[in-house]
Amino acid sequence: MPRSADRESAPLAPPTNVHALPRLAARAFDLLLPPSCVLCSCTVEAGMAPVCAPCWHRLPRILPPRCHRCGATRLTPVESDGCAACAAWPLGSIRAEAVCPMRGNAARLVRELKYGGWTALAVPMGRALSGPAQNLARRAGVPADEALLVPVPITPARRRERGFNQAHLLAAALSGALNARVTELLERRTARRSQVHLRRRDRLANAPGSFQTSVSAGRGEHERRRSVLLVDDVVTTGATAAACATTLTEAGWQPIGLVSFARAWRTFEPSGDSPPPM
Ligand SMILES: [Zn+2]
Ligand SMILES: [Zn+2]
Repeated sequence: MPRSADRESAPLAPPTNVHALPRLAARAFDLLLPPSCVLCSCTVEAGMAPVCAPCWHRLPRILPPRCHRCGATRLTPVESDGCAACAAWPLGSIRAEAVCPMRGNAARLVRELKYGGWTALAVPMGRALSGPAQNLARRAGVPADEALLVPVPITPARRRERGFNQAHLLAAALSGALNARVTELLERRTARRSQVHLRRRDRLANAPGSFQTSVSAGRGEHERRRSVLLVDDVVTTGATAAACATTLTEAGWQPIGLVSFARAWRTFEPSGDSPPPM
């Protein structure tokens, strides 16, 4: 019987034409129409994503066998869920999957999207989340197009400074690939009061980076789609996603998984990677 990991190891689809892609990501693309590949500077065909097909295909991949819980490559075959990389995973029963390990050109794409102004990269990067997202939805027994895509939020100050939330751009591109809705259901707080005299519970609620569900977002969706798929650009410890999942659960939603473009973990073994770009 084919394992889901085999399906996950299929080559990434090449960057595609953006005409049918979500409006937000496509508009970002129009504004920053690039003349060349972000990674190798070769000329890229007009209307295509700002990374060439050879660079895209040479991105490092997370190869099977994968942990069924956190999505990391297993170093040793283990039958049960969980692995060394997620021994302290805070996400409870929620599963996570990513496309690439956070290194090499995959890490570079994450940085260029977030800090380099290459917001058009969100289109191919977001669409690449489609396979992992469908895997997570299938394992949860939820049709992928019925899951609500919720980007992990950044603080309002960070969003003003950056001008966008990279997780939202990825979710917008993914929504086009899955025909699923994306909603900014979560907000990230900034600390408004001094923490010094607060009780522990109030300190946690007031802590910068804590989350709350948006009052207006998701209205009318709750009865029809309670299943939520969290979307982020990169996952390291899972602590942020765990906080998001807890907030969602307490508000009556059902987080079914976390999908990210990149994943960092300490025990990564590089031997299974594709060769580095020439
Ligand atoms: Zn290139
Ligand atoms: Zn694991």
